[in-house]
Amino acid sequence: MIPETLGGLALAAGLLGLCVGSFLNVVIHRLPRMMENDWRAQCAELRGEEAAPAETLSLAKPRSRCPSCGHRITALENIPLISYLLILRGKCSGCGAAISARYPFIEALTGLLSAYAAWHFGPTAQAVGALLLLWALIALSGIDLDTQLLPDSITLPLIWLGLAFNLWAIYCDLPSAVIGAMAGYLALWSVFWLFKLVTGKEGMGYGDFKLLAALGAWLGWQMLPAIILLSSIVGAAVGITLIAAARHGRNIPIPFGPYLAAAGMIALFWGQQITRTYLGMIG
Ligand SMILES: [Zn+2]
Repeated sequence: MIPETLGGLALAAGLLGLCVGSFLNVVIHRLPRMMENDWRAQCAELRGEEAAPAETLSLAKPRSRCPSCGHRITALENIPLISYLLILRGKCSGCGAAISARYPFIEALTGLLSAYAAWHFGPTAQAVGALLLLWALIALSGIDLDTQLLPDSITLPLIWLGLAFNLWAIYCDLPSAVIGAMAGYLALWSVFWLFKLVTGKEGMGYGDFKLLAALGAWLGWQMLPAIILLSSIVGAAVGITLIAAARHGRNIPIPFGPYLAAAGMIALFWGQQITRTYLGMIG
């Protein structure tokens, strides 16, 4: 393909990614709250009580507000990246409270990864799937960092979507995808129980099993060893650094989801090369 066309495609995907990143901020912020409202309503129902009227919250409504003063974010203040950097300069236009740099960071990250996916895969079904997978992984990482949760409402559809793409062998053949989904779940499930039997502690959550199952469904079981290895190395490095810097108690759970997600992204782009390299080293 002509480099100019590919560049244009990457640019378009990057701009789309910026807008999606803005939406992912909303998902990361609201989805855990929506789940909590849901649980509360279900508990009340089980106890036979009238459910307390929770604030109506969905991904679309209400419009975003400043958490300190309630100032409604206008359309002009909602342009990804540009608003934060040029119009607001990191502060609420209502009260001047600092806006977390995480919002533009997520937008920029989503934009860059989307542009790279388009560049890497070109105009293919692989690129379309890669965008969907990347966006889901970014949302999951953000939610896991905040709440130590990986919502089923994202992980489970992600498993089905991976299997669906591989009906046409987009990333791997269907048997590899199905085995990948099962083996991904079982691998972490076994580690979880082994760890629990030995130490009496729970080192990770069921959400992590489902996330690895999803990565197996997308990329095939052949990628699982590399994903587990990569996420453990990065996770251990960050964990040791945090503990050494005494910013993190030894017993506070460190979410594993973001490391799995990062390893999944690496495997999505360079998994084939990595697998070939280490198989080459063995034999
Ligand atoms: Zn404000």
